[in-house]
Amino acid sequence: MKLPMVNLGDPLLRRRSRDVRADEIQSDAIRTLIADMRETMREFGGVGLAAAQVGVGLRLLVLEDGPELMQHLLPEQIADRERKTVPFQVLINPRIVGRSVEETEFFEACLSVPGLAGVVRRRRSLSVDALDEDGQPLRVDASGWHARILAHELDHLDGHTYVERAWPGSLTTTENFVRHWAGASSATARAWYHSPVESDE
Ligand code: ZN
Repeated sequence: MKLPMVNLGDPLLRRRSRDVRADEIQSDAIRTLIADMRETMREFGGVGLAAAQVGVGLRLLVLEDGPELMQHLLPEQIADRERKTVPFQVLINPRIVGRSVEETEFFEACLSVPGLAGVVRRRRSLSVDALDEDGQPLRVDASGWHARILAHELDHLDGHTYVERAWPGSLTTTENFVRHWAGASSATARAWYHSPVESDE
């Protein structure tokens, strides 16, 4: 079932979600939640979704990236963003256990923040320990766009949205993102992130 999205400004997005208890993991309620979150993420065309975004304050997230979500991008843009196919993943009670020193900057958007995008600096790679939907330990070593999705969703579990991390001057409407920035390289986004205001003088 497609669930309604909780949007920016709702106090539910500013709460720290709690761990899923061991006895809850394989319950009907959690299995249904995971199935509904997968459907909701796909219906909205997203690459990740945290439970808080559908109003459930549990440390659970789903993510998925695939060719159909990249079809509007040129091969060089996919390579520049270090985007690759990530099969559907469920992470329960995820914990960051490693991160690169190297960082990358690019535009992000969020299903809970309709109509906007902004440049966010993230670690280029991230290692996370979690439990899968069967309660089995899972290690995810993510890099590039996968690490960006993961970091974005992990923030939701702690009550944060990307707009808190975005450089405020980089915020753009979706319309202007498509017009001016969708084809930009990460180097351009990085320059934009650090750029001063232009002057006509
Ligand atoms: Zn989000």
